Amino acid sequence: MVDYKKCALCPNNLSVRNNTKEHIIPNAIGGRKKTTEFICNDCNNNLGERWDAELARQLNWFSLAVGINRERGEPPKQIVQTIDGDRYWFLSDGSFTPEKSTYSEVDLGDATRINLTAKTMDEAKQRLKGIARKYPKFDIQKALNELTVTTDYLDSPLHLSLSLGGPDAGRSMVKTAFAFASECSIAHEQCEKALEYLLNPNLQTIPFGFAYLSDLVEDRPTDRVFHCVSLHGDPKKKRLWSYIEYFGMFRLVVLLSDVYNGPQKNEVYSIDPVNGERIAIKIKTQISEAEFTALMVGQGLDVDKHKAAADYALPIILDRGRSRTLERTIKEAFEHAAKQLGIKNEEIVPKEKAAEFSRLMMEKLSPFIHHLVQNGRRDGRS
Ligand SMILES: [Zn+2]
Repeated sequence: MVDYKKCALCPNNLSVRNNTKEHIIPNAIGGRKKTTEFICNDCNNNLGERWDAELARQLNWFSLAVGINRERGEPPKQIVQTIDGDRYWFLSDGSFTPEKSTYSEVDLGDATRINLTAKTMDEAKQRLKGIARKYPKFDIQKALNELTVTTDYLDSPLHLSLSLGGPDAGRSMVKTAFAFASECSIAHEQCEKALEYLLNPNLQTIPFGFAYLSDLVEDRPTDRVFHCVSLHGDPKKKRLWSYIEYFGMFRLVVLLSDVYNGPQKNEVYSIDPVNGERIAIKIKTQISEAEFTALMVGQGLDVDKHKAAADYALPIILDRGRSRTLERTIKEAFEHAAKQLGIKNEEIVPKEKAAEFSRLMMEKLSPFIHHLVQNGRRDGRS
């Protein structure tokens, strides 16, 4: 006989049938590690997924910008706007495409000139077919052969929201701390603060607070951002709490219990959201009572400290975006040159075509180089 636990959120027993594997950090933002014996399938489907979806929605720009690697699917594209008001789709490969296509016709008397830009190659082909239906004399084959992809680089800064919150995203974050506690063998009923909040949609007391007053991460890495969730049990203070960080930017403390009587605990789970690799992060557990109280009453979102967090995380994230752009641009330039010279995949570039190959690659690379020059930094930083 196997002794199954109960679901943390409902009276269901966790059997083989409904014992879901729950991601500790949501898969939608790049989480990998799963815990079992936490919540049942129904609770995961009815509550967990809704909470996680809202968190992922709010963090989607970050997921796209660092290029997270999910176990399932990709983060959805989203509209971003530059400070000049231009709107683009931000795609999961880290590139941008204009929000809208353009189309214009000019009557030249004996002919009609059509200008067309489309967001994707497929869309362009569809539009050309439409033109062919409207103008039977239109040479669609020629137009299809002449279709080109042009790449522009965004020189204007983007608007970006750095806030996170609301009842669903809040419950996703508390669920992460709770799931990690469950994974660390803490009995569900020991996390009474989390339970109270997750089970009561109308509860006004929130068991977490944003945590920017002091940096609770020791020696944070400067080459990559990370997701982390920690667990700290202190029987003397009767406190069980967790520190959570997403993308180096979103930082909070969750109070799981203030009547904790279990053993001393200090555990951290941290990953690189780009590839799910575990990384070593240390959390400062010696947080003063005054600071802890301030965090829990919502005074942890200090404006200057919040800006300092953005000044840490955003350059790392944007740098990552630039190296992805560089990789993509070189790949596109290579493919462009190969296509023009009729060189197939896996084929070696013949010696006599090398000079022409380089010239064709430069054709594609020069707008990117121009963009780097315009932004004034040789290494592509700005
Ligand atoms: Zn359940």
